[in-house]
Amino acid sequence: MDLKPDPAAAPGSVADNLAAVRARIARAAIESGRKPEDVRLVLATKTVAPERILEAVEAGETRLAENRVQEGRVKAIALAGHSIRWSMIGHLQTNKVRDVLRFAGEVQSLDRLTLAETLDRALQRLARPLDVLVQVNTSGEATKYGLPPQDVLPFLRELRAFASLRVRGFMTLARFTPDIDEARRCFRVLHAVREEARQGAPQGAALHELSMGMSGDFEAAIAEGATMVRVGQAVFGQRPLPDSFYWPAAPAPLG
Ligand SMILES: *Cc1c(COP(=O)(O)O)cnc(C)c1O
Repeated sequence: MDLKPDPAAAPGSVADNLAAVRARIARAAIESGRKPEDVRLVLATKTVAPERILEAVEAGETRLAENRVQEGRVKAIALAGHSIRWSMIGHLQTNKVRDVLRFAGEVQSLDRLTLAETLDRALQRLARPLDVLVQVNTSGEATKYGLPPQDVLPFLRELRAFASLRVRGFMTLARFTPDIDEARRCFRVLHAVREEARQGAPQGAALHELSMGMSGDFEAAIAEGATMVRVGQAVFGQRPLPDSFYWPAAPAPLG
């Protein structure tokens, strides 16, 4: 089995790490016959201080993502005035919808109808649309959020009722394992979900995005068709809190 690179191996400056990650994205795209510009880098900034995030913004990054609504709002305020598009990538409670709409231009963690309903109602009041991705549980782990693959088509049909939601594609978290082949299997599942949805769902060709791949596995995700990779530690260095703090099923860090 191939082992994933150590995501925490990012001891350099943010600008240097960023340059290295961009080069790896470009290489992975070219190696799989794709164009580097067809893969967008989205920086996962949880636990990273605004001053450090600013280094990435000044190096040209505009797409940032947060897991928690309160943390996202605080950072969006701290970095106001910069050209940034924030995405929500963590589990979203319906009672946080109004707050998420204060800073996020995209929600990648849409995983249930009650959330779609609540988002749509708030957006109608604000008279604006929102880009959303449907989160899919591709690993089958009970602890992961997201719809099981077989529930995606019926869910997309129901989403037609919510005119403010522009469904752009799908997001997944691969199984947390050092085995890159297992992560790759999850990415293939998401790719297959998109192909089926483009054929059978009312949104059709608008379902373009595949948000998949993190510091430890983004090259495999690109090989399987990722249009967006969500990278944190490879740019900002190792997080102080283990992944199990964010995702209960995550194993303890390697080494
Ligand atoms: C933190 C996070 C990432 C990035 O993980 P890294 O290991 O920091 O690259 C990607 N997606 C989600 C949903 C995250 O919470």
